[in-house]
Amino acid sequence: MKLITSLLAAAAMSVATFVAPAFADKGVVGISMPTKTSTRWISDGETMEKLFKDAGYTPDLQFADDDIPNQLSQIENMVTKGAKVLVIGAIDGTTLSDILQKAHDAGVKVIAYDRLIRDSGNVDYYATFDNFQVGVLQATSLVQGLKLDGATAPKNVELFGGSPDDNNAFFFYDGAMSVLQPLIDSGKIVVKSGQMGMDQVGTLRWDGAVAQARMENLLSSTYTDAKVEGVLSPYDGLSIGIISALKGVGYGSGDMPMPVVTGQDAELPSVKSILAGEQYSTVFKDTRELAKVTVGMVDAIMTGKEPEVNDTKTYDNGVKVVPSYLLKPVSVDKTNAKDVLVGAGYYTEDQINN
Ligand code: BGC
Repeated sequence: MKLITSLLAAAAMSVATFVAPAFADKGVVGISMPTKTSTRWISDGETMEKLFKDAGYTPDLQFADDDIPNQLSQIENMVTKGAKVLVIGAIDGTTLSDILQKAHDAGVKVIAYDRLIRDSGNVDYYATFDNFQVGVLQATSLVQGLKLDGATAPKNVELFGGSPDDNNAFFFYDGAMSVLQPLIDSGKIVVKSGQMGMDQVGTLRWDGAVAQARMENLLSSTYTDAKVEGVLSPYDGLSIGIISALKGVGYGSGDMPMPVVTGQDAELPSVKSILAGEQYSTVFKDTRELAKVTVGMVDAIMTGKEPEVNDTKTYDNGVKVVPSYLLKPVSVDKTNAKDVLVGAGYYTEDQINN
């Protein structure tokens, strides 16, 4: 009897030890995403939410509707609720210093998600893509689409930048200009409007309507006699606005071919537009991988290990160089869109075709 009781007790214990991790609450992780206007941020947030749950954490996922005070109060709430780690995709990378000081004082660790948080020493890690390379890929594909080799006349190109409060926007622009500037200098590409530099080409809050309005202005101020042949666009949401402005004055039909327009994020409407021959290309960043890397970082922090990083030089936020993990972006155009995106399981063939 005694033996049976102790066997049972031992069995109960081992079940308890075996089962415990699945039920253990490893703590609250705040996930602050900037906006729902772009599907990528929704899926970033939702993928992390699921992965954190699976790993035994309690995620608190909030979207800030591109409103800075909203993001600040959502983060403040997370700290009050006892979050152990914050994962933040900042709206404006320079506005979080005070709340991050409070978080730090409460022992909370902070991971900058995709966008660097600037002007704060209280950013522990940064998970992102190689943002300079994103710009290089955009410009390389623009140049390819323009068919510069063998061209007899210079090509007219206009430049768009991302939001000037997002550190990434400068990396994208600088990466792109590392390819385009030599071609501008040698006269193969002409920016006819003369509008260059992030202070002139930036698009606040990555707003497609702002990009559309600027493209309309460029068309009426600069392209009444000449035709625009290429547009550097750093994000699919802007590309849609730009293409709509171009179509508005007749590009994409008759003797006005659609200019080569780039993009980023491989958002579904833009992938369809690429397959339909309108947008020329985009840059695919597998946000599921970014979510996975980030959850791994959090888990390492929470279990007293060192999170894996692969870059300790590039991302100086004004106070410190933030140890980073950079993933690889992939250029996508009509020739490889299906292979890359369906191949990765990012979209189904059906989603792309319908
Ligand atoms: C992200 C891009 C995105 C852009 C607009 C950037 O910070 O890195 O992937 O296109 O924000 O949402």
